[in-house]
Amino acid sequence: MQSSSGKLLLKKEIFGHPLGLFVLFLTEMWERFSFYGMRAILTLYLVSKTTDANSGLGWSSSEALNLYGWYTMFVYLMSIPGGYIADKFLGQKKSVLIGGILLVFGHAILAYEEMWTFYSGLVLIVLGVGMLKPNISTMVGGLYRKGDIRRDQGFTIFYIGINVGAFLAGIIVGYVGEKIGWHYGFALAGIGMAFGLLVYYFGQPYLKEVGNFIGDAKTEKEKELLKKPLTKIEKDRMIVLFISFLLVIIFWGAYEQAGGLLNLYALEKTNRHFLGMVVPASWFQSLAAFFIIVIGTSVAKFWANRKLKGKKASSIFKMLTGLIVMGTGFLFMSAASLQFEKEGSSAMYWLVLAYLFHTLGELSVSPVALSFITKLAPVKYASIMMGVYFAMTGLGNKLAGLLGESASHYGEFTIFTGIAVFCIFFGLLVMLFMKKLKKLTHGAEDDEHLISVEN
Ligand code: GLN
Repeated sequence: MQSSSGKLLLKKEIFGHPLGLFVLFLTEMWERFSFYGMRAILTLYLVSKTTDANSGLGWSSSEALNLYGWYTMFVYLMSIPGGYIADKFLGQKKSVLIGGILLVFGHAILAYEEMWTFYSGLVLIVLGVGMLKPNISTMVGGLYRKGDIRRDQGFTIFYIGINVGAFLAGIIVGYVGEKIGWHYGFALAGIGMAFGLLVYYFGQPYLKEVGNFIGDAKTEKEKELLKKPLTKIEKDRMIVLFISFLLVIIFWGAYEQAGGLLNLYALEKTNRHFLGMVVPASWFQSLAAFFIIVIGTSVAKFWANRKLKGKKASSIFKMLTGLIVMGTGFLFMSAASLQFEKEGSSAMYWLVLAYLFHTLGELSVSPVALSFITKLAPVKYASIMMGVYFAMTGLGNKLAGLLGESASHYGEFTIFTGIAVFCIFFGLLVMLFMKKLKKLTHGAEDDEHLISVEN
C-alpha cells in the first residue's frame, strides 16, 4: 500500500485489511471447526447402536433428527440474550471470550461417555455459541469506519474463515468420530475451540479499539448519545433491518436443505460412480464450504467494482439477487428429480451445479447481511440486532427441516420446484420496493470509498 507512513501501514494492515480482522478470522474459523465438527457427528452418534464397536445412544432417526432440529434452532436463538448481554453489561469483546470458554468446556465434557455430560455439554455449547457468534460478527464491523468500502470485503474474508473451519471439520472431525470413536471426535472439536480461544487471547493487542462496552463511555457527549431515544432515521433503519430479516428466514429455510433433503438425495438417488470409485454422499456437504473458499473474494470484488462504478449494489439489492440466484439453483434439482423418474438415478453434476448456485447466492446474502447490520443498527443496539439476525437464521433452519420432511408427502420434484419458484418470485417482488427501502436507510451506504485505518 502506497503511503508516506508505509511502514506503519504494513504493521497494522495485512492484505489491505486491519490485522484485527485476521485475529477474528482465526478465532471464528476454529469456533466453526468445533461447531460443524460436532454437528457432523451428532446425529450419527445418536443413531449408532449401543452394541456397536463405536457405540452410540441407539436412538431412532426421527428422535435424532428431532433433537438435531431443536439444537440447531436454539444454538442461534441464544444469540438474542448473547447480544443483549454484550450491549447492556459486558461489551462484545468480553462476551466473545466468555463464549469461547463455555465452548471449550462444552465440547470437553461431551468427550465423557455419560448421559448427564451429554446434555450438559449441549447446553454449554448452545450458551457458548450464543455469546460468541453474534458478538464476534459485530466486532468485525467495528474494525472499519463509516463509509469504508472495505467493510463488505472484510466480512467476506471473515466468512471464508468460517468456511475453512466448516470444510476441515467435516473431513477431520467426521473421520475421527466415525472411525476412531465418537468421543474422540467431540474432544477434537473441543481442542479446535481451545486453539481459537488462544488466538483470540493473544490477539487482544490488535483488538484494542473494538468490542468495548459502550456503557464505559467516558465523555459527557458519548454518555448523552447512549441515553437519547432513537431518532427518526434510526427507527427507519431498524424497519429496513426487520424487513431484511424476513428475507433471511426464507433464504436459510431454502438453503439449509443442504444438511437434510439434499444430503439424503445425494445418498439415495444420485449415481455417485466416478472414475472407478463411489463418491461418499457426505463429501457433498463439504462442497458448499469449498466453493465459498474458492469464489468468495471474486464475488466480493464483483460487487465492490459495481459500487465504485455507481451501478446498483446496495445491500438490499445484493441480498435479493442472492436469494434469486440460490432459488435458481433448486431448478437443477428439479431437473435431477425428473432424470431420476426417467432413469432410476440422477447425475452428480446436478448437485454440483445446485451447490454452486447456492454458494453464489449465499455470498451475496450472508456476509452482506452481517455487514449491513453493522452499518444500520444504532450503536446501543448493535449486538442485539446481530443477535436477532442469527435468531432468524435459526428459524430458517427449523423451517428447512419442516420443508424437507414434507418431501416425503409431496415428492421431491414439487418441493425443489416450489422452493425455486417461491424464492425467485419473492426476490423479484421485493425488488419492486427497492427504492422505498433504500430511502429508509437514509444514505447509510452512500459514498462508500476506500478508507485506510491510518487516514
Ligand atoms: N454458515 C454460516 C455460519 O456458520 C451461516 C450460519 C447462519 O447464519 N445461520 O456462520
